[in-house]
Amino acid sequence: MNVSLGEAAELMSDARTIVITAHVHPDGDAIGSSLGLMHFLRSQGKEVQVLIDDDIPAIFDILPGYELIEKPDPERWQSADLLIALDVSLDRIGRVREMVQAPVLNIDHHITNDGALADKLYLDGNCAATAEIIYQLIRQKKKPFSQKTAMCLYTGLATDTGWFRFSNTTSSVMQAAAELLQCGVRPHVISEALERKPFAQLKGLAAAMGRIELFHEGRAAGAFLTAADLQSMESPDGLIDMIRVIDGTELAVVMKEKEPDVCRVSMRSKGLDVTKIAIRFGGGGHVRAAGCTISQPFETAKKALIEAIDAALEEQEGKERSAFAK
Ligand code: AMP
Ligand code: MN
Ligand code: MN
Repeated sequence: MNVSLGEAAELMSDARTIVITAHVHPDGDAIGSSLGLMHFLRSQGKEVQVLIDDDIPAIFDILPGYELIEKPDPERWQSADLLIALDVSLDRIGRVREMVQAPVLNIDHHITNDGALADKLYLDGNCAATAEIIYQLIRQKKKPFSQKTAMCLYTGLATDTGWFRFSNTTSSVMQAAAELLQCGVRPHVISEALERKPFAQLKGLAAAMGRIELFHEGRAAGAFLTAADLQSMESPDGLIDMIRVIDGTELAVVMKEKEPDVCRVSMRSKGLDVTKIAIRFGGGGHVRAAGCTISQPFETAKKALIEAIDAALEEQEGKERSAFAK
């Protein structure tokens, strides 16, 4: 059932013990919006724990509360009054779903989230980040932003907008960020921390860049990395952003074989709706940034993915031709 932002805030007010969770493979928005909301709710006297069923990348250790995030434990937090799932649809919160017995309030900005499995859903696809929704929620309650909350929410805004560069960077995002700066956020402290890479990871990224291929006459570019490749490359995070900038490309893709028959896909576009491709493989996301996991052997997954990309690009080219003919 869809609820308003005010109703979402009321559900939080009515609860005493709250678990907050977000998607596995957590990013700056998942972690920032979870910790930001945790600090706010704790300041309102709630007992709050953030549980994420995955490792939290060490670059986020700059965020207040980083050390408090736990993995779900069947012995603890079984019975909360409310489970809040942020930046995610409920099929991507791992074991938190079985382990925490509580009504679920889902807050998200992914247009592909249909709210299935959530008791209550607040979805705003116009928000650049889930952190922007949490910012609006706190603002609507006319409460101040502590420096801790501000740092976490700023991180969500900054990372989901590509440091205020992507097409989702609206004036509202900039105004929210400006207010968070007034509450003590120092942007360079956050960006310098989040940009850190171990030397080996940078070398890995260089090796992975050597594997980038062009296809669909240069309108798409991607890197397809097997588990063996990845072992020698120290998790080349940030690869998709390198591919995205190749002149003439509409679509960038990275496929990583995480384990046999499990291939994780990231896609970015300059306008083409990549959720349509991701949804074909059970994934989701945003028009210009989407992902999915293909449970097939590497070569089969690669072939199916390239076919789907070709079809999407051909459809777009068809539309462009007919618009030109008019
Ligand atoms: P990523 O490429 O992992 O940064 O993801 C791009 C966008 O797609 C993010 O908004 C993700 O939350 C979303 N996304 C990635 N993988 C999936 C998936 N398997 N299912 C649904 N959404 C996804
Ligand atoms: Mn996210
Ligand atoms: Mn997000």
